Amino acid sequence: MSKSADVAAPKCAAQIWGNWRYHPCGNKAALRHTDEQDYCRTHYPPNVDERKRKREEERDLRWAVSRERDRRNARIRAAGLRALDDTFWAPWSGSTVAEEIRAALLVVEVDE
Ligand SMILES: [Zn+2]
Repeated sequence: MSKSADVAAPKCAAQIWGNWRYHPCGNKAALRHTDEQDYCRTHYPPNVDERKRKREEERDLRWAVSRERDRRNARIRAAGLRALDDTFWAPWSGSTVAEEIRAALLVVEVDE
């Protein structure tokens, strides 16, 4: 491709933030949006929206996993405290403190 044809080729209309300022993307335009502007595939607005949607979906999933882990840890702590409570009776019931705690944590695992 000659240099003049390269200059004439439509460039992406997106403005990119970098170096503390906005500047033109500079990539060769590949798609025309409904706003009559040309964009490269990276900055074509529907593609941008799609990536944003995907990012938000992944973030929501990470948060859901983290919330579930927090709830599970809270249940384990509560069971641990109940077990400690029960250890008061351990010497009379013949079991050790460790056995009491292990039994209480087992209940949490079964509940899930
Ligand atoms: Zn672009």
